[in-house]
Amino acid sequence: MENYIKTYEAYRKKIKAYHYFGWLMSWDQETEAPEASIEYRTKQYQVMAEEMYKIESAPEYLEAIDQLYHHLDQIQDVDFKTEIKHAYKGLRAIKLIPKDELIAHQVLVSQASHIWAKAKEENNFEAFLPTLEKIVEFKRNYVKYLETDELKGYDILLDDFEEGFTMKEYDAFFHKLREDLVPFVKEVTARKPKFSRKLTKGVFPREQQIKFSEYLIDVFAYDRKRGLLKESAHPFTSGVSSVDTRITTHYYENNVTSSIFSTIHEMGHAIYEIQNDPKYDDTFLHGGTSLGIHESQSRMYENMLGRSLSFWKVHYPKLVELFPKELKGVSVEEFHRYINRSERSLIRVEADELTYALHVMVRYELEKGLITGKIKVKDLPKKWNRLMYEYVGVRPKTDKEGVLQDVHWSGGMLGYFPTYALGSAYAAQIYNAMNKEINVEQELENNNIKAINAWVKEKIHKFASSKSPKELLLIATQEPFNPQYYVDYLKHKFQE
Ligand SMILES: [Zn+2]
Repeated sequence: MENYIKTYEAYRKKIKAYHYFGWLMSWDQETEAPEASIEYRTKQYQVMAEEMYKIESAPEYLEAIDQLYHHLDQIQDVDFKTEIKHAYKGLRAIKLIPKDELIAHQVLVSQASHIWAKAKEENNFEAFLPTLEKIVEFKRNYVKYLETDELKGYDILLDDFEEGFTMKEYDAFFHKLREDLVPFVKEVTARKPKFSRKLTKGVFPREQQIKFSEYLIDVFAYDRKRGLLKESAHPFTSGVSSVDTRITTHYYENNVTSSIFSTIHEMGHAIYEIQNDPKYDDTFLHGGTSLGIHESQSRMYENMLGRSLSFWKVHYPKLVELFPKELKGVSVEEFHRYINRSERSLIRVEADELTYALHVMVRYELEKGLITGKIKVKDLPKKWNRLMYEYVGVRPKTDKEGVLQDVHWSGGMLGYFPTYALGSAYAAQIYNAMNKEINVEQELENNNIKAINAWVKEKIHKFASSKSPKELLLIATQEPFNPQYYVDYLKHKFQE
């Protein structure tokens, strides 16, 4: 075993280094690189990607993983066992799917995002249809190749993105949302509250918005020695270790709240990874354990902390100080109501906290139908529009603002969407548990977010990906996933 461990560790060290350079390159590309550098950079990147592929698919490395996996009982270190299990799972596709099918699919998805983007631009679903049909066909075969006694069909795709969560869990979750949330949302969104034109039509200079985002970094104690804030077209978090996890935001002069909540959301992601135990930095266990848990942290910071009245009682004066003219006469209570308004809307990424999960539910139903074969790809636009009307109460007029709006399917990512809704529901359950141990609103009013960071570090962050989502939820909240907290949280918040 010793030799296999040594081989594994030597490869891991190399792969981590290559990932680091690739990561730096993509960070540079998203934030700083001049436009004309694309081609030159891509040439250099290709050389490195080829080297990386050689290392990651080296027979002695794969053999080491295989051997270690089949002798797990001889490994003492629990974290190392977990790492080997992850590595072995990651190799399933390469082992079980015929090479030519796998390569054909990789080639297909590498072109698909361009085809999708063009189809979306031109509002032409027919142009994307043949590509999407091939992607779905591959996914249907993929689940057949990978099926086990425990996991079959769509469950395999779901488990790929959120370990341990299958149709059984998601069906129960979405059933609850359909029963309890859909009628409630219809009721809340039927109201049309009015807000000051200062908020809806104002112009907020970029320079001042940057100052406020910088201010937020210190409020949330996002460690400037381990992270930083830049600007990009779409906000994101990107990190490699507990000493380097960076975020971006985007400033719109006609919308002061967009950059604020993007910055807070991304800080939620970044603080998670910065607070991982540093012992994981040199392993593959560094990082968040799953998409759903990652999103639970960003959404808790954004929605539960960042959109609360307790938070704004302390920080609204600073915002007014930066925008004295722009916010003159707008009270903190009105600002608070404004940032928590709910509307029936068409676009998922712009949806508010209350309606968001219903957008996701539409995608879940459709994906399930696609994989079981109950829904044909060509019927997607019609089905999409019908479900949007049923759940959110709006009917898209074009496919651009309907079935073509998201990039995920063009990347072959089926099974990904449900984790977004799960993240919000986890957040409510975790927030509830946290409130049993610390008075969160009081800490916000004392401007002491450090106390909140410390709680999530101890209960979630420090474990990195050494625990599964289900295990983490048990540690943090003392009970299994329970979507009731989410429904209760939303009803309590939006009833007012
Ligand atoms: Zn996020």
